[in-house]
Amino acid sequence: MYHDHPLVAHSVMTKVIECVLGPSYFYHRRLIEASKGWSVKEIREYQETRFQRLIRRYGDEITQKDDYRRNLRRYTHWNVPPLAHTVRTGGTSGQPLTFQADTFARRQKERAYLFDIWSQIGYAPGDLRVCYRGEIHGGLVRFDRFENAWLVSPGATLEQELGRLRQWLRTVPPFFLHVHASSLFTFIDLVGESLFRSLPIRGVIAGSEAFPVAEQQRFEQEFGIRVAHWYGHSEYAALAYCCRECRGFHFYPTYGHVEFLPSETEDCLRVIASSFNRIGTQFVRYDTGDLAVAPAGSCTVNHFSRADAIVGRVGETFVDSSGRRRSLFGYIFGDEKSVLWDQIRDLQVVQEKAGRLRVRLVVNPGVDRDQIEQIFERRMPMVSLEFEYVPSIERSPSGKRRYFVDAMEEDTSGSYH
Ligand SMILES: [Zn+2]
Repeated sequence: MYHDHPLVAHSVMTKVIECVLGPSYFYHRRLIEASKGWSVKEIREYQETRFQRLIRRYGDEITQKDDYRRNLRRYTHWNVPPLAHTVRTGGTSGQPLTFQADTFARRQKERAYLFDIWSQIGYAPGDLRVCYRGEIHGGLVRFDRFENAWLVSPGATLEQELGRLRQWLRTVPPFFLHVHASSLFTFIDLVGESLFRSLPIRGVIAGSEAFPVAEQQRFEQEFGIRVAHWYGHSEYAALAYCCRECRGFHFYPTYGHVEFLPSETEDCLRVIASSFNRIGTQFVRYDTGDLAVAPAGSCTVNHFSRADAIVGRVGETFVDSSGRRRSLFGYIFGDEKSVLWDQIRDLQVVQEKAGRLRVRLVVNPGVDRDQIEQIFERRMPMVSLEFEYVPSIERSPSGKRRYFVDAMEEDTSGSYH
């Protein structure tokens, strides 16, 4: 472990980081700024031109994940290396997907939008972050120089390592804490609330999964730390930031096209997204599997499309061998680039007993089961795992696949079937 000097020459650092980001980053940053002043008509014009181009090329049918699985080439434009590369997603529904993405522009575009979201709590490109999310290799804590971020490995936060983690945290200069929404509370629990309160945390960056507004506000009031939260998904077709004024989600009109269509779930709309990228897989009227609540009031901040809430993505927690509650999301879906997603078609995790998880897997033919099990065991040494290979995983009555079943809780409430 070594210490860098992240706060030294901060503005120089910001400029250096931005230079590395390249032309797409600056293009999108300018576009984001401009779009915030656009009228409803200007937004519609920008979106329609791009949306109609997609419809002309691919038709106007609503598409599902399976359409891209079966017909990836049909939906992929300019699939020429090195212009495009393969992206694998674990997907929050537990059903992985592989597609092609723009090698050069995508990362820069993502950065432009994420930095805009994070800037709402005072983040500037290059500011120091401590990340507690995903699968991190190389021990409990390591420093990523390019990201200017300390990466804390959730898989390494075993009981006997917590003292070292706490000691190290006391030495970190002011930082933004980057977590999955539900692992924020796991993190507080791991380091202890009084130490957490004493840390120089400038803000919390929490995306990737649902973070109910009431919970966000309670956290902000209780700890005096602001939260940046957003809704996005691994197919990169829609992105919305959680607005500090109306506490709803504003969809960036220049990122992708979003439609809200009726669903079978009461008061909820399906989020249908079309991507604006020119290279790689183009998602067209793609059913994201997520549900939104239509906005009740208006918001004066800008004219972006809005939703009051995004539902259908819930942060679930399990109980480890020491009796500690941890968010499952990060452990299972934290590393979307893992070879795991080439081998697994579907999965579900069931907890019937504290300290024990049953991992139900639908795998591709001919996969190496030992390798799959080893990957999970490496990621989750704090709980004992049992593996079950099944032909398919049942869907819930609403059509949603539950990736986590907490049978302990449901047993006591009597609602588990
Ligand atoms: Zn708003």
